[in-house]
Amino acid sequence: MPKERLTDGFNRFHEKYYENGADLMKKLVKDGASPDFFIVNCIDPRNGAGVVFDAPPGQQFQRQQMGAIIPPYDPDKTAELVAALSYAIDTKKIKYLVIMGHSQCGAVQALIEGTDDALIENWVKMAAGAKNAAEKKLGTADKEELLRETERQTVIMSLKNALEYPMVKKAVAEGRLSVDGWYFDMEHGTLHEYRPEKDAFTQIAPQHGKRAKAPRRKPPHDPARRKSDSAAHRRAA
Ligand SMILES: [Zn+2]
Repeated sequence: MPKERLTDGFNRFHEKYYENGADLMKKLVKDGASPDFFIVNCIDPRNGAGVVFDAPPGQQFQRQQMGAIIPPYDPDKTAELVAALSYAIDTKKIKYLVIMGHSQCGAVQALIEGTDDALIENWVKMAAGAKNAAEKKLGTADKEELLRETERQTVIMSLKNALEYPMVKKAVAEGRLSVDGWYFDMEHGTLHEYRPEKDAFTQIAPQHGKRAKAPRRKPPHDPARRKSDSAAHRRAA
């Protein structure tokens, strides 16, 4: 029975956190949870934040929405997200907000290729600015390159939008909240963080692995090196 895969999973969860001397869940029930993180990622079943971050119960708030798109602040249209962020930031005092997009994202694909589903269209069109930014950055690119770049630009756009949410803006200004845009490259199994000062993504995990190396085409002192490395990184990402 397919449902048994769920109950079997619950059994494993129970063993891990209720049995074998583990009293984590009992403690969390008694004391409540004090999560440090709030993760916003896509609904894609391959990138669940609990699995990707190997997270024990209580570690993080998780919210999934298609494409990990965070629209501009509008408490009427984004009521649930706004309420959740308000609770997490001002009541639970989380320290980190992470917006994580991913490669091979169906939502971004729908944005690029179009979709017959008006409801999906209605949502993904909120990332139209990211598509425009990717097209502008790449010029004439092949479709796969455009998809990957649009995925990354969607992270950047969502990050910028999130930073304008009043509760986020205030907490960041007071130095009690950090906000990052991450990109999970599912194909290569790597995690990348957007660095605004470089306007580029940097691989942050796995730490034990080596960043995919592209052949160095310019000597270190060449002023064009940064551009070359950045382009190589884009291909590797
Ligand atoms: Zn996705």
